[in-house]
Formats: sequence, structure tokens, C-alpha cells
Amino acid sequence: MGSIGRIVVVGGSLGGLRTTEALYLGGWEGEVVVLSEELHPPYTRPPLSKTALAHGPDASTLAFKQRPEAARAQWRHGVRALACDLAARTVTLSDGDVLSYDGLVAATGVRARRLPAPLGTAGHVLRTLDDCRNLRTELVAGARVVVVGAGFIGCEVAATAVGLGCSVDVVAADDVPMQTPLGTDVGAAVQRRHEREGVRFHLGRQVAGIVEHDGTSLVTLSDGTEVLGDVLVQAIGSAPSVDWLDGNGLDLTDGVVCDNGLRIGGRPAAVAVGDVARFPNPLFDDVPRRVEHWQMPVDTARRAATTLLADLAGAPADPTPFTPLPSFWSDQYDLRLQSFGAPGLGERVEVLDGDLDGDAVVGYHRGDRLVGAVLLGFPRKMVQVRRMVQAALTAARERERERASSVGVG
Ligand SMILES: Cc1cc2nc3c(=O)[nH]c(=O)nc-3n(C[C@H](O)[C@H](O)[C@H](O)COP(=O)(O)OP(=O)(O)OC[C@H]3O[C@@H](n4cnc5c(N)ncnc54)[C@H](O)[C@@H]3O)c2cc1C
Repeated sequence: MGSIGRIVVVGGSLGGLRTTEALYLGGWEGEVVVLSEELHPPYTRPPLSKTALAHGPDASTLAFKQRPEAARAQWRHGVRALACDLAARTVTLSDGDVLSYDGLVAATGVRARRLPAPLGTAGHVLRTLDDCRNLRTELVAGARVVVVGAGFIGCEVAATAVGLGCSVDVVAADDVPMQTPLGTDVGAAVQRRHEREGVRFHLGRQVAGIVEHDGTSLVTLSDGTEVLGDVLVQAIGSAPSVDWLDGNGLDLTDGVVCDNGLRIGGRPAAVAVGDVARFPNPLFDDVPRRVEHWQMPVDTARRAATTLLADLAGAPADPTPFTPLPSFWSDQYDLRLQSFGAPGLGERVEVLDGDLDGDAVVGYHRGDRLVGAVLLGFPRKMVQVRRMVQAALTAARERERERASSVGVG
């Protein structure tokens, strides 16, 4: 390594790309090497279950617009980081190379989970452009599609498949779709919309067996129900890609635990961004959490780059707490769902405006605090609802700080 210094970015998708740009924009003069196990240039994933699945994915239209700074980095596609030694500051690559570095960015995101063996090999998952291409070829009019999992991606695939003329069954262990992030009432309302489009749900049951024969999959559920499909999609969530960080004494139970400045395990000159980063957000509390939403790689990239550049310069890190507002959207039929804050932390759900079978604004409260809101439709209320959630969380945090300082804590 030359004297100019090197930052290695592991993962070349949204988080890796935006961190690379932010590093150069922040004044980094050294090398940046981006390791990307995928062969495609960085592309956006949300359309993979929506428009790109409906119309066929096109790598060029999905590719991110990049700042010119991104081209200053050395992009190594088709290369996977196998291991990392944080103490020695080296990364071992799948092509046999060992790269030393001054700074490290973990941007490895998540992988699609599959059912446990022997069920896991059956059917499709949907995480990458290639997954989308493979699934798209089978979603022909009249095909019987079985979706295992009723989270966002499962529901979006169901909606897209219906739009393509498929007949769709959704199987899930939860009692309603999207139960964990949105709660029972909103999940049930979304279920009704799917059912109006002809989707059949088999909820509150596990998959007990899958038999693949002659191009069909026979899925047997824990209560003995059998569902037959020509196409099977496993959409049962994700697993953070952290195997390459093993052996460093880190907490890798659900992503990589970071401090509020996104330092991996609180160690200097190593940061994590995007879906893989589990960090405390003082907007809510001090519990480290991962957020798998498109906006989060963008927000964490800026902050992680600032932290890393300060560490590499031996300068103090930005003392301002990092408090990004989580947000996401989902498109199912003509329904746009938008979420701000952390509805999943809510204990009490309240319809603030409209009704759940039409357009609605739904508030999620924890104790006396509004912690999140979801819009079903109501696109014109987006800015107003976002501001409402931001203001409520900021005010609650201020009150908490005042209370803590009045009793002499922190
Ligand atoms: C089908 C789908 C639909 C979605 N829809 C929405 C939506 O509507 N709204 C929303 O807010 N969010 C949505 N998301 C989530 C959003 O796309 C993610 O939050 C975002 O992609 C996370 O970016 P990331 O860079 O952190 O991780 P990723 O996009 O997962 O990228 C990580 C990259 O690192 C690579 N990698 C992993 N391990 C290694 C290794 N060891 N060495 C080298 N490279 C490695 C991976 O191959 C991958 O290219 C959706 C995701 C999917 C899959």
C-alpha cells in the first residue's frame, strides 16, 4: 500500500456507492477499493418486486445515477470478501488477494433467507437483479404462484403476479400480512385489498413440506392443507451478510453492532452502513437496531464517511447525535404505503385520518409517544405526516433529555 492510504468498501450496492461518493466529497485523497460480489454496476432493488418484475428488469434503467466521484474508486466486481482481520487491517478476497487498508466500510447488506433444509432449495428468492430475471420468466398469465411469506416483498410479489394474470396463494406463519412492521389492523386491511384482487391467504401456519414434481411444487402446511403451484417464491425475510466479519469478537447476532457514529463495535476507522448496520438511534432509544429501508444506506453513508474521515485524520468525530428518520414505501396494486418513524415499536395503533379500507393515516404510539405513522394512500399528506412524526420524536427526545438532566443523568 502506498503512503496515500486506502479505504476498502465491502459491498458495492447503494450503501457502498453512496459512502464512496461521500468519502471523496469529504476530501479523501487516497484510494478507495470497492469489493462487489455482484457483476452488475450498483442498481436499485425496490423495483425488483414491483415495476421491474412486472415489465422485465433492465439493468440500465435500474442502475443508480452516480456522482463523478464514484469513478475515482477502483471497483472490483465479482469479488467477495471472505474474511477480515480488524486488528491487522486486512481483508481476504475470494480471488486469493489479501488487501491491507487504513479504513474499512462494511456495506454488505442482507441476503434472502430460505426455509430450513431440506425445504430451502425449492423455488425462487428475490434479492438480486438475476433473481428478478429468473422469477419474471415464470410469471406468465395463468400460472399458479405460491408465495411463502407475507412481508413486504411477499405481498409485492403477490400483487405483481396478480397484475400479470397469475393465480396467487400466500402462505405465512403470521396471522396477517406485514404484521411485525405494521400491526394487526393495518395488516388485515392490506389483506382485504389482496383478497379483493383474488389472492388466497393461508395464515398462521408453517410450511411442513414441499414436494417438487414435473414443474410443480406441492406445499403442505402444518395443519395438513396442501397448496399446489407452478411457481414457488420464498419471501421469508433476510439474513445480514456478516460471515466475513467472523473472528473479530464482534456482536454479529443481527447485522454488525455499531455505535451511533457507525463505528463497528465502537472501533476506530471501521464503519458499517445500510441494511447490515445495527446502531442506536437516539430518536427512539439506545437500543441498536437494523433498518432495511432504501433511505437508510443513503443517510448512514454520509455519517459513516464523516466518522471514518475524522478517525483517519486523528480528528474528533462529529459530536452531533445521528438521528435519521426511518422511512419506506411499498406499492401493492394501486395502493402506496408510506411509513415514517418506527411503527414496529408501537404498542397502540390509532387511525388518525380516513379509514383503513380507503385512504388512511395511522399513528403508532409507545406509551405517550408517537413513534411512527403509516399512510395508506393519501399521497398529498406525505410531507405533513413526515413532519408530524419528525416533530413528535424530536420533542419526545428533548423532554427525555430535560428529564435526564434534571435528575443528573447523562
Ligand atoms: C425486492 C426488494 C424490494 C425492496 N423494496 C423496497 C421498498 O419498496 N422500499 C424501501 O425502502 N426499501 C426496499 N427494499 C430495501 C432496499 O433495497 C435496501 O434497504 C437496500 O438495497 C440496502 O442497501 P445496502 O447497500 O445496505 O445493501 P444491499 O443492497 O443488500 O447490497 C449489499 C451488496 O453487498 C454485496 N455483498 C454481500 N456480501 C459481500 C461480500 N462478502 N463481499 C463482497 N460483496 C458482498 C451483495 O452482493 C450486495 O451487492 C427492497 C429490497 C428488495 C430486495
